[in-house]
Amino acid sequence: MSDFHLVFVGGIGRSGSTLIERLLGELPGVCSVGEVVHMWQRALIDGEPCGCGAPFRECAFWGEVGAVAFGGWDRVDPRAVLALKSAVDRTRHVPRLLAARPPKALADPLARYTGYYDALYSAIARVSGCRVVVDASKHASLAVCLRHRYGERLRVLHVVRDPRAVAHAWGKRVPRPDATPTSPEQEMARYSPGRAAVQWMAQNAALAALHRTGTPTRRVRYEDFAADPAAEFRAIAAFAGHEGDTPVGADGAVLLSATHTVSGNPMRFRTGEVRVRPDLTWREGLAPRSRALVSALTLPVRWRFGY
Ligand SMILES: [Zn+2]
Repeated sequence: MSDFHLVFVGGIGRSGSTLIERLLGELPGVCSVGEVVHMWQRALIDGEPCGCGAPFRECAFWGEVGAVAFGGWDRVDPRAVLALKSAVDRTRHVPRLLAARPPKALADPLARYTGYYDALYSAIARVSGCRVVVDASKHASLAVCLRHRYGERLRVLHVVRDPRAVAHAWGKRVPRPDATPTSPEQEMARYSPGRAAVQWMAQNAALAALHRTGTPTRRVRYEDFAADPAAEFRAIAAFAGHEGDTPVGADGAVLLSATHTVSGNPMRFRTGEVRVRPDLTWREGLAPRSRALVSALTLPVRWRFGY
C-alpha cells in the first residue's frame, strides 16, 4: 500500500474551491486531480478533456494512472461505478454513514465503491510520485464514504462561502468548455436561489457533522482566503502536509501551470498569472427578493459559519 494521504476539498460548488484546489496542485509533493466524482461519466463515458487540454484517453498521465490502477481504462466499467455511486454516495445516506460503522445493507457496495477510488488514488500517488493526493469532488456524501476506508488518512478541507454569493453564482448561465458534442451537460447546472440555499445547508451541515466524527478537517471561509490569500493559503498548505513557502505572493498573485484535472469549474483550464481577490458582485447581482429568501432559508445554519 502506498503511503499517500488524501486531501478532500468539500463544500457546495461555486464556493471558490477550484482556485484553492489549483493552488494546492502547485505545491511540490501534492497532486491535485480535480473532481474525481465526475470522472466516471464525464471523462470515461463522455470523453471530456483533461485539464492539460488533451482528450482524457490521450492524456499520458491518465493513461499511466489507468494502467496502474486497473490494467487500462478498458478494464474498468464506469457504469458499474455509477451504479454503486447511486447505491451509496447520496446525500440521503449521509446520516447513516456518519455512524462509526456503515449500516449492514450499505457495507458491501460501500467497500466496492471506495475500492475504485482507492485504486485510483494509489495509482495517482505512484505515477505522480506525490505523497498527497487532492480530490476536489466537493460532495459531502463522498467524503463520508471515504472516511470508512481511510480513517485519519483522509483530511477534509471544507470551503464555505456566503450563501448569498453562492446562490448568485448558481443562477448564472455558464457554458462548459469541457463539453463534447455528446455531453449531456452543455452548460453548468443552475439552481434557483431556494434550491441553492437548501443545498448550501445540506452540504455544509454534513461536512460539519463529519468533522464531529473526528475526521481531520480545516474549515476555510472563502472571504477570509480572498482577504489575505498568502496567509490563509499558508495555513491550508500546512494542513495538507506542506511546510514552508507557497506560490501565493503577498499581493495574492499566483502563477498557475497546466494540470491533469478530470473535471471541475471552467477555471481548471486557466494557466498563467491570476490574482486572488474578493468577489462581491452578488451584492449588486442578486435580486433583493432572492437575497431575502436565501438569508431566511439559511438562517438556522449560517451563523455557525460566521455569516
Ligand atoms: Zn492531462
